[in-house]
Amino acid sequence: MKVTKLPFNPGPAAWNSILPSDRGHPELNSHKKTDWLIIGAGFAGLSAARRLQLRRPFDRITVLEAKCLAEGPAGRNSGFMIDLPHDLASKDYGGRIQEDRKKIEQNRLAINFARKTVNDLGLPREAFQEVGKVNAAATTTGMQHNLNYKDHLTDLKENFELYDAQQMTELTGTTYYLGGLFTPGTVMLQPALYIRELGKKLISNKLKIHENSPVISLAHNGFDWHAKTPKGSITTQKIIMATNGHVENFGLFKRRIIHLFTYGSMTRGLTPEESKILGGKAHWGLTSADPLGTTVRKISTISGDRIVIRNKVTYEPEMQPTQAVLNRIYAKHTASFDARFPNLKDVQMAFNWGGQLAFSLNNVPAFGEAEKGLFTACCQNGLGTVNGTLQGAAAADYAMGINSELIDALCNEDPPKKLLPEPITRIGANLRILFGEFKAGAEL
Ligand SMILES: Cc1cc2nc3c(=O)[nH]c(=O)nc-3n(C[C@H](O)[C@H](O)[C@H](O)COP(=O)(O)OP(=O)(O)OC[C@H]3O[C@@H](n4cnc5c(N)ncnc54)[C@H](O)[C@@H]3O)c2cc1C
Repeated sequence: MKVTKLPFNPGPAAWNSILPSDRGHPELNSHKKTDWLIIGAGFAGLSAARRLQLRRPFDRITVLEAKCLAEGPAGRNSGFMIDLPHDLASKDYGGRIQEDRKKIEQNRLAINFARKTVNDLGLPREAFQEVGKVNAAATTTGMQHNLNYKDHLTDLKENFELYDAQQMTELTGTTYYLGGLFTPGTVMLQPALYIRELGKKLISNKLKIHENSPVISLAHNGFDWHAKTPKGSITTQKIIMATNGHVENFGLFKRRIIHLFTYGSMTRGLTPEESKILGGKAHWGLTSADPLGTTVRKISTISGDRIVIRNKVTYEPEMQPTQAVLNRIYAKHTASFDARFPNLKDVQMAFNWGGQLAFSLNNVPAFGEAEKGLFTACCQNGLGTVNGTLQGAAAADYAMGINSELIDALCNEDPPKKLLPEPITRIGANLRILFGEFKAGAEL
């Protein structure tokens, strides 16, 4: 298999840029034999590495990452590790009881795994904060979505709290929102800190990580797999591919993955006066009552409080949005920020970026043993903090021959559905996004 394309990450990974610089991990520049090769060092790849390290402490594990840790989507997301169903393709996050109970159980398994990893390896507290999040509504339609969601959570016997407009202002400082629905189980990550520190704590004399070491080809010879990078190569018998949508660049799940990008912007640090003008609590995180609405966070950093905005989705089958698309979306971020924070009109965005997502038409993962000894933990359907963590650990178990209900559940899912030929998929995806964003109105 020749790898047809390598990852493109538009703009800086802001969460990584605001951290002190880091020595990183060496590039692979020799030939190595290893018991386990993991391709991709996001949530899935590092969770797989952790699981293998725990269960096979004497095995050699090598992780190859095309770029640097926390520079890819795992370090450039909004950091909402959500325990409840949060289907981004739904109208209002409402779902079906049995499926949603199963999903909640899986999400919490992932969160428990991440929590134990954070505690056992001594990751910084700031990387993983168990503080919950608010589903914020800025429109009457959004309020209705939240009420539907509340009824659904009641049926699921899940805890929540409804906030009125004043409580939303007390929390966020802005009067933009009519109400909100707080749920306590979401973990708020500093995603780059989580990924970078996890990578650092995992390495040992048995586990090595190589950055700037993209796999450019994979070949199979008897029981052995040979992976080539620009300056080195690896021979192994077991591979866990944790590359999310890039699995298709290896010739797997061809035309079964929908490649989307979504986008973020982060302000410069607010001055103490600006933070005072804004008011509200020190940290908070808002998802939108509309699945295509704007996600907003306030964080505290050594250079002051910052606001992080995420919105807009584009269909990018070539895995590379154009500069014109980026410019249009970054302008929209400024508009979304200005609408919410009119008192901070002198505050500019310090960082704008985009990042790749992978979806399947039927909302299932690309999980399993694709070829003898080659296991995939890919296609996170936009929610890779939980789905990637879960799939990575499960793929490691599966590859070690361990059985569990989770592995049965993942293996029993249908495969990702085949996409219709172009231009039908492009037209369908673009229309769906356009219509969804139009419907989101002021939630966007
Ligand atoms: C702006 C933004 C906001 C988001 N917000 C959230 C959120 O709040 N909550 C949430 O759950 N999700 C969110 N996401 C989605 C989330 O970031 C992804 O779903 C998640 O990162 C997927 O994890 P992963 O480990 O499967 O894949 P990735 O994080 O994409 O990691 C895959 C890695 O594989 C590497 N790779 C690819 N090809 C090769 C190769 N040939 N050789 C070696 N390495 C390779 C890539 O460089 C990459 O680092 C957001 C995404 C973006 C862009």
